[in-house]
Amino acid sequence: MSRDAVALIRPDALRHNLEILRKTAPGSRVIAVVKANAYGHGYGALAAALAGADTLGVACLDEAAALREAGVTRPIVLLEGIFSRDEIEPAAALGCELVVHADWQVEALEAVVASHAFVTWLKVDTGMNRLGFHPAQADAMHDRLGACSAVCEIRWMTHLACADAREHAMTRRQLESFRAVAGQRAGARSIANSAGVLAWPDTHADWVRPGLALYGVSPFAGEAGSAYGLEPVMTLTSRLIALRDLDVGDSVGYGADWQAETKTRIGIVGIGYGDGYPQHAPPQTPVRVNDRLVRLAGRVSMDMLAVDLGAGADDRVGDPVVLWGDGLPVETVAAATRTIPWTLLTAVSGRVQLVSV
Ligand SMILES: *Cc1c(COP(=O)(O)O)cnc(C)c1O
Repeated sequence: MSRDAVALIRPDALRHNLEILRKTAPGSRVIAVVKANAYGHGYGALAAALAGADTLGVACLDEAAALREAGVTRPIVLLEGIFSRDEIEPAAALGCELVVHADWQVEALEAVVASHAFVTWLKVDTGMNRLGFHPAQADAMHDRLGACSAVCEIRWMTHLACADAREHAMTRRQLESFRAVAGQRAGARSIANSAGVLAWPDTHADWVRPGLALYGVSPFAGEAGSAYGLEPVMTLTSRLIALRDLDVGDSVGYGADWQAETKTRIGIVGIGYGDGYPQHAPPQTPVRVNDRLVRLAGRVSMDMLAVDLGAGADDRVGDPVVLWGDGLPVETVAAATRTIPWTLLTAVSGRVQLVSV
């Protein structure tokens, strides 16, 4: 038996989640956000299911190229646009649409001798203060893009800072600011990330941009995706590779800072931080062994972690372990480890096998 650190990937769950999101935002088309290797899920396993999206969103050209290699034929939006002028040609060759958020990107499009005309997304900074033009500049940029032979269409985009907080006044302010600019002009509009789709109908507009929710995971703290009928696409699994019986006071792992308070049995699981499991996970973090929840024991190592199975546990070497996914939402593990599900999913490392099921 080889080392067993496997992420089971369910394309059918992604199809199902996409359907839920379409029903939630029935008037909108969907940019499926698949940056960072589809949030750690892998393009290979999901390529066919992603055909159900209208367009895909990635962070850079390499990701667009990887999607094309996986056989995806839909349009792809580069969510941060080009990073240098010499990316214009490969972006055209890969069939990419371009977010335009900076003056130099407009200049680059003005300067290019057009053999290809891009769909562009004019990004307006309505308060996130990350990327985009100040609302006062947006009109002028729209005019300049409109005069470019390398541009065939101009759409509008902004990004919400606080959509995961259900009552936050920021979202209203951002919407008003966006409407004041994009509401006057022609062109499709896109505002909503996953939290916008699920909690802010006013943000749905012409195109929604869900990422996390596509993978079945809730963007709201303290709520699992199942609250919306979403199903986890990834289940991160491993197996028990050894067992230990401990006496009171025996310690487990590096630093010897976890000690048995009663006689107990420890299971060693063949996955660790080298696979992307969070090294800082505290002992109360749940792990699923043979369909029951147990807790971590001691510090997570690079290739292994330990769980407290309890005295007299009859689990055996080779038995299945779920770190998150089926029966243990990644949202729960994120809360227990004081991080967010986005980081857990994208941290799954290259040595975890991604297996489509
Ligand atoms: C990552 C990203 C999204 C998706 O965000 P989620 O919270 O994962 O749904 C949407 N829009 C942009 C511009 C992004 O960078």
